[in-house]
Amino acid sequence: MNRRQFLCASAASFACVGNVSAATYDLVIKGGRVIDPSVGLDAIRDVAIVAGKIAAVEADIKGNAAETIDARGKIVAPGLIDIHTHAARVAEGARICLQDGVTGWVDCGSAGADNIDQIAATARAAPQIGRVLVNISRTGNAPDGELMDINRANVGLARGAIARHLDVVIGLKARLTHDIAGTNDLEGLRRAQEAAAPFGLPVMIHMGQSVSPMRAILTLLKRGDIVTHMYAPAPNGILDDEGRLFPDVAAARRRGVIFDLGNGGNGHLRWDVVERATKQGFWPDTLSTDWTANSRENLSVIDLPNVMSKFIMLGMPLAQVIASATVNAARVFPAFDDRGTLNIGAPADVAIMELREGTFEFVDNYKGTRTGHQRLFPVATVLAGKRTAPRA
Ligand SMILES: [Zn+2]
Repeated sequence: MNRRQFLCASAASFACVGNVSAATYDLVIKGGRVIDPSVGLDAIRDVAIVAGKIAAVEADIKGNAAETIDARGKIVAPGLIDIHTHAARVAEGARICLQDGVTGWVDCGSAGADNIDQIAATARAAPQIGRVLVNISRTGNAPDGELMDINRANVGLARGAIARHLDVVIGLKARLTHDIAGTNDLEGLRRAQEAAAPFGLPVMIHMGQSVSPMRAILTLLKRGDIVTHMYAPAPNGILDDEGRLFPDVAAARRRGVIFDLGNGGNGHLRWDVVERATKQGFWPDTLSTDWTANSRENLSVIDLPNVMSKFIMLGMPLAQVIASATVNAARVFPAFDDRGTLNIGAPADVAIMELREGTFEFVDNYKGTRTGHQRLFPVATVLAGKRTAPRA
């Protein structure tokens, strides 16, 4: 097959009728290092886009393009998906994280049944895919601890909230820390599962410093449920008193429970826990930020590419780091089917980043620092085939 036939077969077939050489693209991203773990690709490629879809990923694409992005020296990855954020708390959140390469996000438990309507409306209005986990507590995340009064975990109200917003609510959230749930952690989680069951939805738990041990909590999780803040320090983290990974934690992963970073700002991430767990081979399935519209001022978060860079520093291969914020994240929720990939025909959501060499300080949630020598910086975002406004 010669090059023209290949273009016709794979890319812009509509342009091949009559004139085989007239392939025309809306946008071509030229010469970047394309890392698409969904297809095992890491090579210098051009990415061509037609009508909001990926049309071709090849070396040196010929043909006319209405717009070109010069990506030489940059990384071109599928649009990033952040499965733990609070992006729907304010209207401008979605546009801010879009500048960081985030073309899909999940707001996790900001709202419960009493205030879900507003959060769902904000998610619907987002330029990228915004989805929501409804808190099992009717109040949503509350500073006084939303599960301290177990009556707030009302299964009927939570089911009603899901039913009203089936287009954007894709699961439930339960925060189980001692000052949020007290001794109600297991009952709150049971009720979250009860609310989720008729809809077949997953439950995300916020773990760490709970009253009940992880062993008891994990028995209440089903395949596809998500544990966020996976490296939260003791009490009741994933490590025993000697720093060994609990066998129940590894067993939960084997039966399909997903372990998510949930970087956060306070109490969720400490370097010694991360280092002990990763030395035992326990890496995150997904890298998420626990992002809010103020995260750029939070040195522990800044943006998703910064959080991803922590794992480059820790020795995770770059392709796996990118997989953890693209294809792995997309597979957690059916809402992201067809995302997290640059496969031909997929919606053209693309994150263009720069992997800079230098000396970079990475911060945990306890002001602990580690020094790395590479950091990803967001450069440009393409959403549904269109270049979006750059970061100021
Ligand atoms: Zn959160």
